[in-house]
This record gives sequence, structure tokens and C-alpha cells, in this order.
Amino acid sequence: MEGIQSAAQQMTSWLATGRVLFLLIHLLGVACFFYIVAMRLVPLIRGQRDFRFDQPFVRLGRVLKFWLGQWKHPRYRTAGTIHIFIFAGFIVLAMRAFSVLIVGVSQNFVMPGLSGRAGPIYDIITDYAATIVFLCMVIAVIRRLVFKPARYAVPARYGKAHTADAIFLLSLIAILMVADSLFAAAKAAAQSQPGQSVEVLAAFSLPWMLQKALVSTALPTLGMLYFGAYLVHELTFYFLLCYRPFGIQFHVETSLFNIYFAKLDREILKPVRWGVSDEHLDQVKSFGVKTFEDFTWKHMLDFYSCADCGRCSDNCPANAVGRPLSPRFITIKARDYNFQHYPVLGRVNNGTALVGSIYSEDEIWSCTTCGACEAECPLLVEYIDKIVDLRRGMVDDGNVPQSLQKPLKALESRGNPYGKMEKKKADWANAKEFQQICPVKTLGKNNGADALYFVDSITSYDDRMQAIGRATAKILNHVGENFGILGAAEKDSGHEVRRFGEETLFMALRDHNVDAIKASGVRRIVTADPHAYNALKHDYKDVPPVEHISQVIAREVKAGKIKFNPVENENSVYAYHDPCYLGRHNQIYDDPRDVLDAIPGLKRVEMTRSRDRSFCCGGGGLMLFYEPKEDERMGVKRVKMAAEAGANVMVTACPFCMVNIEDAIKVAGLEGKMTAIDLAELVDQQIARESQ
Ligand code: SF4
Ligand code: SF4
Repeated sequence: MEGIQSAAQQMTSWLATGRVLFLLIHLLGVACFFYIVAMRLVPLIRGQRDFRFDQPFVRLGRVLKFWLGQWKHPRYRTAGTIHIFIFAGFIVLAMRAFSVLIVGVSQNFVMPGLSGRAGPIYDIITDYAATIVFLCMVIAVIRRLVFKPARYAVPARYGKAHTADAIFLLSLIAILMVADSLFAAAKAAAQSQPGQSVEVLAAFSLPWMLQKALVSTALPTLGMLYFGAYLVHELTFYFLLCYRPFGIQFHVETSLFNIYFAKLDREILKPVRWGVSDEHLDQVKSFGVKTFEDFTWKHMLDFYSCADCGRCSDNCPANAVGRPLSPRFITIKARDYNFQHYPVLGRVNNGTALVGSIYSEDEIWSCTTCGACEAECPLLVEYIDKIVDLRRGMVDDGNVPQSLQKPLKALESRGNPYGKMEKKKADWANAKEFQQICPVKTLGKNNGADALYFVDSITSYDDRMQAIGRATAKILNHVGENFGILGAAEKDSGHEVRRFGEETLFMALRDHNVDAIKASGVRRIVTADPHAYNALKHDYKDVPPVEHISQVIAREVKAGKIKFNPVENENSVYAYHDPCYLGRHNQIYDDPRDVLDAIPGLKRVEMTRSRDRSFCCGGGGLMLFYEPKEDERMGVKRVKMAAEAGANVMVTACPFCMVNIEDAIKVAGLEGKMTAIDLAELVDQQIARESQ
């Protein structure tokens, strides 16, 4: 017993010789860290307001789910599992790291609560945690160097690869784990010299293996190793702490806050300026984001919190088809700009226009606002609001792509992007033959209804899409809905107008429609257009509740009001394509599938990319007028995905998806092999009507 104490005391006294040095390193390390963090907060303080302080319990719940629970990480199985192990290891080791740091200046320090039996149990857990984190670092380095997952690659136009930085950081963490383990192993080896009791280290852990290797080492050498391991641990710890705010590892510190302050209502676009109501927007001197300081503080926090994992870009359809947009680099470029213009040492140099310097115009117009990036990001980094804000800035400067100018003017003058006459808006419903089978009333002073069918521009004016409008009307008629349309009184919902940054025009369209809807006296709204649905549900205020037609059909199928005839063509295999603004933005995934599965004999396959991983068809609204630089159309990629899944009929529930998919079928050379149909059209075709 005496021997054990002697060895332990000997080790402690060796450590005590460095007490002053360790204390100095502590003070310097902590001071540097707080100084750097304070400097990193400077742009956030200068950034725009962003209201993220509501619903603290909901936010805490999200921290538990997305931060502590690592909810999104398993979406990428290998990398996600490695990350979960590293994260869990870090959480376990955090207390040990602080305890080890204090031991350097107060050698007999024991963390409160760990002096009794809990101490050895905690030590065993941390031995394994250090081992797991070390192994994960080795695996991560091998993945980066040997397997090189494509999503980590940095295309030449975005700068140089980040591999060296990643390896450097992974190596530092590995060194930290080895130093920590060696510190424990040297002491245990000293205590296990002949004639003394063996200190319990977790079997087969890294400290245990090091102890085995050191068991016959002379006591003075063990003392030097003990001292050296401590010094390396302390230096590495503080170096990492102070180095992390200079790169991707800053997310270790910021991710918890980023998730806490993450947007709760992602469907709702951010206002032009937080705290400025629509009525006072005319007092805002400059719309959107033009310089870095126009970003909100939370969007700047996003830039610090991105882990550069590449998941957003891996799922971005614009990136997949070679458009000049990769969301990951929207963040990385902004972060680099921040580091350069808000240096830790030196003068702040701000005010540069972002578009034209770090971002190109095409890059910002290339986004379809599909939301795939946001659905994927494990750290809840936001993109759509930033991109829309950058567009608002460009629109404010009169910087709108040539191809969009005409439809925007038409929207201003005629309320639709095609420049068609308002009085022709209800032509699709007023055709004599159609009125005979399905009377559709146009709502007015003497013509009321319970429900409004909000048709929107494309379904009203496009010859092909009018079929979706007629099918929708027939379904509503079949289930006995007392409904009508606004006809000439309906203007474009403005959904895409808003997402293209034309906030003032959107407000004019919205206000007109809100007045028309209120005047119609309806109690609910139905639409077959997910973009109109999203606008009415999230962008409009004070309008009756809105449903997408797929929700109405699913409900009526369940209620037994809609019954189907069996599918006649046995060779038809259907794949449902989730429209972004129905699925990802509004979580309506099951209703359309339930409807399809209720049709007798319908064979349905699922594409690999479905539900919240659905792949955008190419975008709707004004995106149809935009001519991006791209290698392949998104729709073409999408129909190929359906063909790979074994489908020959693509079902969608959005007129814009229909435009893109039908076009893509031709471009992909799949005419005759694949067809596309809207859910409403299919339902109308398959409904078992009594007269049949
Ligand atoms: S919203 Fe869609 S298109 Fe835009 S950056 Fe994200 S994934 Fe890409
Ligand atoms: S934004 Fe999110 S998904 Fe994209 S690279 Fe950063 S952490 Fe990964």
C-alpha cells in the first residue's frame, strides 16, 4: 500500500514541477479563446435583426433531438455513425478534459462526484471513449485519404480542397486522445511496478494497451512520459480550442446555439426586415442582402456552424445538373469572406457587394428553393431565406435576368406571367361541353359557395394544365362540394414572385387575392397547385384554411365517397414524384400515396429519392422562364430515376412538375416508354361513377 502511494506521489510531484508553466498555458489559452470568440461575434453584432428568441422549450427540444440526439446524422450511414461515436466520445470526455487540465495546477484535484465509487466507473467509460474517438479519427482519415467520398471534393471553381485542413484537425484530435491515454497509462504503469497494485484501466482500451507496453519501463522514464503527456495534452487542447474558430471545427462550439436558434417555421419565408411590417416597408432604404452585414446575425451563425460535410450539395438538384450553385459553397464562401473582412487581428474591412464578388448572379438565380439542402443539413443551416434575400438585393438594384423581365412585367400589368387577359382566366371551366358535365360557378356578389377552388395562373391558361383544373373540378363535383372559382378576380398567387425577390409585387398580388377571397365569402380553399397551396397557407394572412386536392381526395376515399375502378393496363407501373412544395415544404407525403394505393390493381414503386429526399423536377413559376446554365435538365434526371425504379408512369400532384416531367420524357428519349399524369387526372379517370 505504501509502495502504491509512493509511486502515485512520485508521479504527482513530477507533475507539480510544471505547475507554473501549466497555469500560464491555461491562462493564455483561455484568454486567447475568449478574445477570438469575441472577435467572431463582431459581425453578428453588426448583422441584421433576426427574431429567434420565442418558444424556448420547443427550441430546447430541438437541441435534444438534433444536437444531443444527432437526429439527422444516420441519413448518411457510415459518416453519420462515425460522427455519433465521436460526438458521444466528446461529451463523455469533456468532463475528463477539464479535470485533467485542473490536475496540472492542483495535483490532487478530483471532479466533484467522482471521489467515491463513481470515479473508477467514470474512468473506465472515458478510457473506452478516448479509444473510440481515436479509432474514429483513424477511420475518418482513411476515408478522406483513401475512399475520398465525392461530396467532400471541392470543384476547381470553388477553390482548393479542404482535405489537408480536415486531416490536420483529425490528427490533432487523435493526438489529444493519445496524450490523454498516455497520461493515464504512465501513471497506471508506475503504480503497477513489481510489488504494487495494478490500477484498473478498461481492458483493451487505448490507455490499457499503452500501460501494457510501458509496464517494464523505469519509474523516472514513466515520470517524464507522464509529464510530457500532460504537456502535450494541454498544448493540443488549447491549440485546438483557439484554432477551431478559424475553420470548419468552429461548429463544435457553435452547433448547439445554431440548433437552438434554428428557424422553427421553415415554410414561412423571412420578412424583408425583421421588425418592419409590410405597411412600413417603404421606409426600408435597401431591400435584401447586398453586403455581408445585410445578413442576419443568425445567418452569420450558420456560416460558423457549417461542418463542410457536403450533404446539402450532395442533395441539391441544381448542383447535380451542373448549375453554378452548390449550397455548401454559399456558406463556405461567406465564411471565408467573414474571416478575411473581420480578422481576429487587424482592421475590419466591410461593405463589399457580395454578388459580383463572392457570388455570381447565375449562382443565386439557379436555386429552385426546393429545400433539399435544408432537409439534409444535420446542423439546420438555412439556405432559402439567404438566397431569397440575395435575390431581393439584386431586384432592388434592378438586376433581374433578361428572361424574367417580361413575365414580371406581365404579372404587374395582368396578374399572370403569360400576359394573358384576365377575362380569359375562367375559359377552361366555361367551355360549353365541360359546363354540361361539370358546372363550375364563378363566385361573385350573387354567387356564393362553401369552398373556393384557387386555380392559379398555369392551370388557368396553359392548355395542357387546364386538364388538371377540369379533373380537380370534376372530383370536387363528385364528392358534392359546393365550390366555385374567382375567375378574372383571381391573380397569380405570387408564390414564385416572392421567392424571386420581388416582394413589393408579391404584396400587391397577395393583397388583391386576399380581398377577392374575403369578398367571395368562402369558408375553405382547395387548390391542385402546391405553389398556390404554400402561398395561401404560409405567405397569406387572414384567409380561410386551405387544402391541397390530394388531401381532399384521401379524406373522401377514407370516407367512402370516392371509389375506384381497377387499373386496366396490367403493364403500368406507377411512381409517385413528391413535388417539393407539397412534400418537403408541407410534409404531405402519405395522402397522395394512400390515394394511389386505394386504386385496385395499381402497381406502385418508390424511387430511391422520394419523400423528403425527393429530387426537384426543375422548379415552377418564374423558374420556367429562367434559362440556367446546366449540363442536364433536372426533369431528365428525375424521369431517369423513375425508369431505374421500374416505373413507366410518373404521377405527380403539381402542374409545374407536369410541365417539367412531360418535357423531360421527350428530352430523355423515353416517349412511348413513359408517361406522366397528375394525381387529380388519374383519380378522375379511375373514379367509379354510378352512371358507369
Ligand atoms: S433549395 Fe434546392 S436548389 Fe436551392 S440550394 Fe437548396 S437544394 Fe439547391
Ligand atoms: S450546410 Fe449543413 S449539410 Fe451543408 S456542408 Fe454545412 S453542415 Fe453540411
